[in-house]
Amino acid sequence: MALNFLRPRKIGRWLLLAAVAYFAVGYVSPRLHWVATERGAVELARALPIQPAGVRVSGVIHVHTHRSHDAVGDEGDVASAARRADIDFVVLSDHRAAEAPIGQWQTRAHFVDSVLIVRGQEISLGSAVGRVLAFPLDTAVSGWQAGVESFAAFLRERSGTAIVAHSRSPRSRDSWRPDSTPGIVGWEVFDLADIGRARLSDFWVVYHLAALAASAPFGRLHWSVTRLYRDGFDQPHVAAFDSLYRRAHLVALGGLDAHPKKRFRGALLPGYEAFFKSVVNHVELATPFPSDAMAATTTLANGLRSGRVFISFGDTRLARNFVLFAVASDGARYPIGRHVEWADEVYLRGGFWGGPNSRLLYRVVRDGESVAWVRGPELTWRLSSPGAYRVEAYRYTLRVGRLIWNLRPWIFANPFRVVRVGD
Ligand SMILES: [Zn+2]
Repeated sequence: MALNFLRPRKIGRWLLLAAVAYFAVGYVSPRLHWVATERGAVELARALPIQPAGVRVSGVIHVHTHRSHDAVGDEGDVASAARRADIDFVVLSDHRAAEAPIGQWQTRAHFVDSVLIVRGQEISLGSAVGRVLAFPLDTAVSGWQAGVESFAAFLRERSGTAIVAHSRSPRSRDSWRPDSTPGIVGWEVFDLADIGRARLSDFWVVYHLAALAASAPFGRLHWSVTRLYRDGFDQPHVAAFDSLYRRAHLVALGGLDAHPKKRFRGALLPGYEAFFKSVVNHVELATPFPSDAMAATTTLANGLRSGRVFISFGDTRLARNFVLFAVASDGARYPIGRHVEWADEVYLRGGFWGGPNSRLLYRVVRDGESVAWVRGPELTWRLSSPGAYRVEAYRYTLRVGRLIWNLRPWIFANPFRVVRVGD
């Protein structure tokens, strides 16, 4: 009688129950958080409505085409997927095989169907250094063995921009080794290929494989791709960025490492569209892109360098409505990525211009440590000390007290560096 539960039919029932529980918990991913609201700041919030300043351009970085030895897909495929994903620019990052004709890189940037396509490159600086994405270069580089300082000089001569790729990849040969980043502007804090690799050895691997397979036929692949970031922004790439940020003014960016592998009946596998709808960089510019593609590339590079950048995970069109600024009691307003003078009263103010207005949470992070979870729809948070402050926005399905169901990381904004005058 005691061994009754070992009968095959009972075992089958238990296994089924365990599978249902696994998928249900995998889907709703319950989390416990203290959620705060800052009530004293209501007056300030009324005085400072959420409105975007400047112009936004949205786009993706780290995309491979047939110019890379390990990918298929051409710029026509890239541009049509970009239009369907509602984005403005794509920074390609092909690896140049030694035998590939240099002529393929002579056009450094052009508009295709009003999408700015920049022909950047992914360059290995050797296994003792790591990898960068660089653009726009007039020389195609298949590898650089002379060290990071000499690469920085090479970039400077060409007014090139470089971003560290695969910064903390599970594939250790790709990871960034030096503890500095000379001449480098950005840090790929999110890399879809890296998170995919990490998930393959994770408890939730079956859930994610099933979700990817089930969503693809419904054109919802981007939804399950975005869900790979189920743990949100607590991961090694972000921790490394937060710690480096204290010394170097790097800009956090999200990359895709999209490599279509095959063309089957005209369609790419995997196609660009699901990637382009997943991790998108939004750059705040003073003016829209000029009509000349090289001038637009310079505008984009300067926009990235300014740090006025936030990254979104899915729902790109709504994410574009995100507004965040710091404001001092004298009314001075500072955009994302800026130095802010410490004063008695400095607030972070955020929200979504035109929505969404419900089921939003914000997390305030100072020097890599979580300071508070704040209930939306808007954020008004008074800072307690100088430091590097970041804001993250999340969406969720249901909240009961401290228990939050189906919490989805959505927006990751670059830090404000709040400093005492004279520091
Ligand atoms: Zn790559």
